[in-house]
Amino acid sequence: MRLGIISALAEEQHGLLEALQSPSRHFYGMREYTTGKLWEIDAVCVLSRIGKVAAAMTAAILVEKFGVTHIIFTGVAGSGDKNVNVGDIVVADTLIQHDFDASPLFPRFEIPLTGLSSFATDVALTERLAGAARQVTRVHRGLIASGDQFIGKLTQIQAMKADLPDLLAVEMEGAAVAQVCFELGIPFAVIRTISDNANDDAAVDFMHFIKTVASRYAFDVIHNFCKA
Ligand code: SAH
Repeated sequence: MRLGIISALAEEQHGLLEALQSPSRHFYGMREYTTGKLWEIDAVCVLSRIGKVAAAMTAAILVEKFGVTHIIFTGVAGSGDKNVNVGDIVVADTLIQHDFDASPLFPRFEIPLTGLSSFATDVALTERLAGAARQVTRVHRGLIASGDQFIGKLTQIQAMKADLPDLLAVEMEGAAVAQVCFELGIPFAVIRTISDNANDDAAVDFMHFIKTVASRYAFDVIHNFCKA
């Protein structure tokens, strides 16, 4: 396995670069890719930056230029369900692009020419990641939605939940990585620590959380994953 680990923000990657043994840094396409050994696993860590295009580009480069065979996205997200609390972790089983709408030509949410409106994560990788996360905090499994919007209004998250009743978390990159991995045949998984409730308090909660809990969780989960 050569594992690509993507995060959007520096806080989400906190500690991982320091843990990489024999690190080697490579600049490409406005991003820094660091290769090395992460507790015996051959790994490449990178910050995608924010949003679906940024994440898609990063995933494709990881595969095509750095030869990764598996990808994990680790980051934070807003809650999409009343049972999913700040500090919980959501591990995706499926991901959807909530802002994709080519109707009436295609059903809403469907990605043209794939026939799919959601992409499933790799079962083995997801099981291993969920096991690693359960040692850290409460874990939920299910649907994550991604779009090029920070969801910070109660009315926004309520409308999304009405359209996607199974929704557990909302963020800005996961489903883009999912589509790239689907198209390239790369097993992938997405894990998100809940930083906010995607409501009117989201921006303030997010800023606080990212600096405190999120960075430690991300590190602990990846550590457990690599040692498993
Ligand atoms: N002000 C921040 C912007 C971060 S955008 C900054 O300058 O760094 C939010 C990031 O966290 C995205 O990468 C997204 O994937 C995730 N996220 C957390 N809460 C979210 C929410 N409520 N809606 C959408 N994305 C969210």
